[in-house]
Amino acid sequence: MNTCSGSNKIHSTAHSVYDALAKEDYHSLLLDYIFLVRHSQHINFELNQLVTQKDLIHASETDSLTGLPNRKRLKKILQKLKYYADGYDMPFCIAMIDLDYFKKINDTHGHLAGDMVLEQTASILQSHLRKSDSVIRYGGEEFLLSLNGATLREGLNLLEKLRTAISEHIFFYKDTPIRLSVSIGTVQYDTASCPSLQELIAQADKALYEAKEQGRNRVVAYRSGS
Ligand code: GH3
Ligand code: MG
Ligand code: MG
Repeated sequence: MNTCSGSNKIHSTAHSVYDALAKEDYHSLLLDYIFLVRHSQHINFELNQLVTQKDLIHASETDSLTGLPNRKRLKKILQKLKYYADGYDMPFCIAMIDLDYFKKINDTHGHLAGDMVLEQTASILQSHLRKSDSVIRYGGEEFLLSLNGATLREGLNLLEKLRTAISEHIFFYKDTPIRLSVSIGTVQYDTASCPSLQELIAQADKALYEAKEQGRNRVVAYRSGS
């Protein structure tokens, strides 16, 4: 149905209903009434379809354990930041975060304890970010952050706070205390070399790898293009 002509017809039919009522023309009234009921059913169907599609897209882009966006939403988020960086020189950083020796937590306390640690880590990450930043569950025990408007110095500052907060936090699974640290690789997007999103993520990954190599529980920063 053409939406505009459809809504015009609905309006004019609603007027006809009142006219027919005033004139006590019950035959016209019945026809108009049937028309309106049919169209309201059609609108109802269309709206349901739209809502269902939106819900399905949202569910497919959300990690069920942590409630964070998953990798499917990553491209949309980073494309927007790249657009503003390339067009308006707006800085941004990304950071790849990997939980240290996480397998040991699963092996020692069980997978449910591991799940709880992942959920709580996600909450700690979220509580340290501004509304304009994003945190994504990138993979198993890896998270990707985007820090909107942040230079490398500002990003490093925030990530150090985050790293410290996690290393000082005591996670409790039932009554058992669990300690955890994270390694972080971060990179600022460089408008001069204009890397692709894949290149940018690869650079953050490389910095993360170095953080692991250097002994874990640390942040390693690169400037994109360096
Ligand atoms: P490293 O410091 O080198 O990163 O060591 P690691 O033990 O963290 O890394 P490794 O890759 O050896 O192990 C990651 C583990 O994360 C293995 C996998 O079973 C676990 N894992 C991935 N996703 C989940 C999840 O959703 N829940 C739980 N409980 N464990 C998960
Ligand atoms: Mg990993
Ligand atoms: Mg790990």
